[in-house]
Amino acid sequence: MGFIALSTQAQSTRKPAIPRDEAMEQKIEKQLSKMTLDEKIGQMLELNLDVMGKMTMEDNRLTWKLNETMLDTLIAKWKVGSILNAPGTRASTVEQWQKWIRLIQEKSMKYIGIPDIYGLDHNHGVTYTQGGTLFPQPINLAASFNTELARSGAEITAYESRAANCPWVYNPVVDLGRDPRWPRIYESFGEDAIVNARMVEAEIKGYQGDDPNHIDRYHVGTSTKHYFAYGAPWTGKDRTPAYLSPQLLREKYFEPFRAAAMAGTLTMMVNSASVNGVPLHASYEYLTQWLKEDLQWDGMLVTDWADINNLFTREHVAKDKKDAIRIAINAGIDMSMDPYSIDFCILLKELVQEGAVKMERIDDAVRRILRVKYRLGLFDQPNTGGKGFEKFGSDEFALKALRAAEETEVLLKNEGNILPLAKGKKVLLTGPNANQMRCLNGGWSYTWQGSNAADLSEKYNTIYEALCLKYGKENIMLEQGVTYKENGQYYEENEPQIAKAVEAAAGADVIIACIGENSYTETPGNLNDLWMSENQRSLVKELAKTGKPIILVLNEGRPRLMADIEPLAKAIVHIFLPGNYGGDALANLLSGDANFSAKMPYTYPREINSLNNYDYKVSEEVGTMAGAYNYDAKVSLQWPFGYGLSYTTFEYSNLRSDKTQFTADDVLTVSVDVKNTGSCVGKEAVLLYSSDLIASIVPDNKRLRCFTKVALQPGETKTVTFSLPASELAFVGADGKWVLEEGDFILKTGNQTTGISCTATKKWETPNK
Ligand code: BGC
Repeated sequence: MGFIALSTQAQSTRKPAIPRDEAMEQKIEKQLSKMTLDEKIGQMLELNLDVMGKMTMEDNRLTWKLNETMLDTLIAKWKVGSILNAPGTRASTVEQWQKWIRLIQEKSMKYIGIPDIYGLDHNHGVTYTQGGTLFPQPINLAASFNTELARSGAEITAYESRAANCPWVYNPVVDLGRDPRWPRIYESFGEDAIVNARMVEAEIKGYQGDDPNHIDRYHVGTSTKHYFAYGAPWTGKDRTPAYLSPQLLREKYFEPFRAAAMAGTLTMMVNSASVNGVPLHASYEYLTQWLKEDLQWDGMLVTDWADINNLFTREHVAKDKKDAIRIAINAGIDMSMDPYSIDFCILLKELVQEGAVKMERIDDAVRRILRVKYRLGLFDQPNTGGKGFEKFGSDEFALKALRAAEETEVLLKNEGNILPLAKGKKVLLTGPNANQMRCLNGGWSYTWQGSNAADLSEKYNTIYEALCLKYGKENIMLEQGVTYKENGQYYEENEPQIAKAVEAAAGADVIIACIGENSYTETPGNLNDLWMSENQRSLVKELAKTGKPIILVLNEGRPRLMADIEPLAKAIVHIFLPGNYGGDALANLLSGDANFSAKMPYTYPREINSLNNYDYKVSEEVGTMAGAYNYDAKVSLQWPFGYGLSYTTFEYSNLRSDKTQFTADDVLTVSVDVKNTGSCVGKEAVLLYSSDLIASIVPDNKRLRCFTKVALQPGETKTVTFSLPASELAFVGADGKWVLEEGDFILKTGNQTTGISCTATKKWETPNK
C-alpha cells in the first residue's frame, strides 16, 4: 500500500500566530508529497544520542564514542528525524559537538534528504557545551524585572549553541513557580503570569531573532515548556498531578504559553504530568484546541522524556504502548521524545494502517516538523559552527553575565545599614554554599543535576574566591561549619563542624553565612520538608550567640523556610542561582561597588501552612470576626512578591490614569513619577498592580499588570508611563468565559493608589480575548 500524502490540511480563515511564508509552505508541501509513511513517521521520532554510542577507554580516559553503524541504521532504516541530549548528560566541547552533529546531518541528508533537528537543554546558557557562558537561572532574571537581560542572555546562548552546530534549545521555561515545594521553581520566571509572559517574549526574540520564519545561523529555535500547568503538583513532587480551577488555568498558567505562541516560539514541549486527571499528552482540548486551533499556532509539539510511554506505565490512561501512541498522536503530539527505542515507528505505522490514526494527522505533524526545519534554515545550512563564532565564551559575554547577576540578587534586610560592608573588616565566611560553584549555578549546569562538574567550572569564582579578591585573602576566614556530601543526594550533608565555625568567629568583625541548597533538578530535587536544613539553621543560631553581626546569603532554587533564623541576621541577600559570575556579583554588591535593584519574583513563606501567592483570593486573608466565633485566616509571609531594597531610596508620586472611567475597548495610559531620593545611583523596578474590588467570583487580592525598570541618578525624577488595555483587567468567570465587569478598580504602584471604574460589562464569547 502506497502512502503518498495529499495536502488535506483544513483551510482556516483565522490568521496564524506567525504570518506564514507562502513560498516556504509550498516547499513543505512538495517535500511532504515525496515522503513515504516510514519517512514521515521517522520524522516524528526523537532519540537520545546515548543509544548510538558508548563509553570507551581512549588514551587512558573514558570517552564517549559514536557508533557510526548504529547511526546509519537509525537514519537509513528508521528515518529518525531528531536526536537530543549530551552523552551521559555531561557537557562536551564545541569541536566534539560540531563533529557529531555534522555526521548526523551528513547521514540525514544522504539517506532521507531532510536535515535532523538536534536539541539540547541549553537552559541558562550553554549547559552542555564546555567553555560557553552560563547566565543566572531564570528565577534570577525574573527578580531583575528587566526583560532586556533575558533577551540578551538568550541571544548569546543562541550564538553559542549554533557555534556547536545545535539549532534547537529546550527553553524558555514558563511553568509558573507558585508552589515552593516544587523542585523546578528556579527554571521559570517565578509565580506571576505577566512576568513569565513578558520574559518569554523577550527570550524568544533573543533566541530566535526578529523573524520566526527565517532564523539566521546565529539564532536557534525555542521549545517553550512544559505546556502547561506543570509547576502546580498537588503533592509538591515533580511530575505528579495538578488540580486547578478553569480560571487559574486560563488566566494564569496558560498566559505565558499564549504569549509564547503569539511571539512565534517554533516548538513547545509538553508537561509530563496531568491536570484535573487528564495527562497533557492525552489532551486533545489543550494540545489541539487551545493551541493549534484557538491560537492558530502552527509550530510543533514535542513530548517530554518518554512521556508517551508514561501514558500507560505511570498515568494508566492507555493499555499498552501502542494505545498510548494512538492517544497522544490523536491528541496533537507531533514528535515523540522516545529516547531509547524505535518501537514508536513500528507501532505508529500499524495504527495508521489500521485506521486508528488518520493520515491527515500524520501529515499535519510532519508538516509542522518540516516547517520548523525550514524556518531554521537547516535544509540550506544543516551545520553552522566554525568560522564566525569567535565570540564563543568571550569576555564580552562574561561581562554581560556578571552585570545580569548583579541585577538579580535581592537585598531583603539591611539593619543599621550594615551593608555596604567596608573594606578592612575581618570576615568569617561560613556555610555550605560559601565555596562551591555548583551551588551558584544550580541544576542544568554542565551536567543534568549540576553535580560532578567542578572540573568544568574551575576558572570561575566561588563566593569565597570573589570575596578574597574584593576584600583581600587575609581578611576572609573560611570555616564552613556545614558542608554538603558531594556524592550524595542534593540534601545530604556531612557531619557538621559547627564548633569550629563558632571558634573562628572569635577573630571576626562580621560573619557572612552562605546557606541554602545544593544543586538539583526534576525528581531528584523533590523534598519532604520545606524548612532549610536543621544543620544550617543550627549553624546560624550558634554563631548568633557570639554576638557578631551576621549577614545571611540565601543561595537556593526555591524559598526554604527560615523564620527562626531571620531575626538573627542584620542583613539578608537572596541570590537564588546567579550562575558562574554570581560570586563576583555578590562581592560587588556587598562592597557597594554595585547597587541592588532586584525584587522578589515569588512569595517567600514564613510558615509551612501558609503557602499563599501574592495574587491570592481576597478571602484567603480574613480579619477577626465579631461575635462568638472567630473565622480569621492570616496570610503570613516572610517576604512578599515584589519586595527588595537598594542602597538608595525611591519616592513614588502622582500616580494617574488618563481615564478614570473606561470600557473594554479603551487603553489606559497610567503614569507615575519616581524619584531617587537617596545618595547613590540606582535602578528601580516599577510594578503596576490592579485590584478588582467587587466581582461575580471572589476577586484576586491584586494582580501585576505591567512592569518596567528605570535607572535614576541621585535626585533625578522620571515619569514612568504604562499603556494598559482595559481588557487586561478582565477575568475568567464562573462560566469559563472572559469578562470585564462594571465596577471599581484600584491601580497601585509603590505607595501610590488611584481609583478607576469600568462603566459597562463585556463578556467575550471567544476562548481568548
Ligand atoms: C525534562 C525536560 C528536558 C528533557 C530533555 C526532561 O526530563 O523534564 O525539561 O527538556 O528531559 O532533556
